[in-house]
Amino acid sequence: MTQKQPTLLALDFDGVICDGLLEYFETAWRAYCRIWLAGDKTPPEGLAEIFYRLRPVVETGWEMPCVLRSILQGMPEAEILRNWSAICLDLVQTEGLVPVEVEQVVDRVRDEWITLDLAGWLSLHRFYPGVTLQLQRIITEGIELFIVTTKEDRFVQQLLAQAGVNLSASRIFGKSVRQPKAQTLRQLQQSAAASEPLIWFVEDRLKTLQTIAPQVDLQNVELFLADWGYNTAGDRAVAQQDERIHLLTLEQFTQPPEQWS
Ligand SMILES: [Mg+2]
Repeated sequence: MTQKQPTLLALDFDGVICDGLLEYFETAWRAYCRIWLAGDKTPPEGLAEIFYRLRPVVETGWEMPCVLRSILQGMPEAEILRNWSAICLDLVQTEGLVPVEVEQVVDRVRDEWITLDLAGWLSLHRFYPGVTLQLQRIITEGIELFIVTTKEDRFVQQLLAQAGVNLSASRIFGKSVRQPKAQTLRQLQQSAAASEPLIWFVEDRLKTLQTIAPQVDLQNVELFLADWGYNTAGDRAVAQQDERIHLLTLEQFTQPPEQWS
């Protein structure tokens, strides 16, 4: 890696800064109950733990209750991990599911929950150890910090504020932005304070980084896969072999950026 330190650090939120697994499961289970059980029930013991391990296969929210459906229909965990897109497609067909409708159920469950109990909802998000301190340090050192996420902007801002990290809304590119992360990085490149910005981007989803990697005008952006987030051993092995992508541990991430490589 040629760059020693970034002038601008762009970070994904879920799976890099914040662990939202408890919230994901609870939302997925509530949606599952609406679709398949007609009423709220207590989840079977051990289901949450299996779901946590399978979280990396989920690309879009509507797949969350479908993962639970597969588990509860007896599909082996290893099989879901290896072959989720085919299993999910099969499930959609055999159950006659309409992904857009499942997505609406998931969104509605979450919206109702947030309306009824915002504090409870926020409390199911946990920051990874050492991360908020590191964010404060980065801000103090004058590195431009941006959050690039698909989570709702105001919740990101609220969660960070609760942890003592005050970031203005203009620093958060969240759900409202509705554009690929590559586009946001391009935008940051153009509007950065430094004349020749050195942008580093940390993300936990391998596919997102793989989409950005070949883009010619983003060749100067250093890409990091957060190995503590929602990715599989297979994803991490691929990242390790990829010239464009650096595999990053949480321990490295909480050190000064010049020590990341
Ligand atoms: Mg993420």
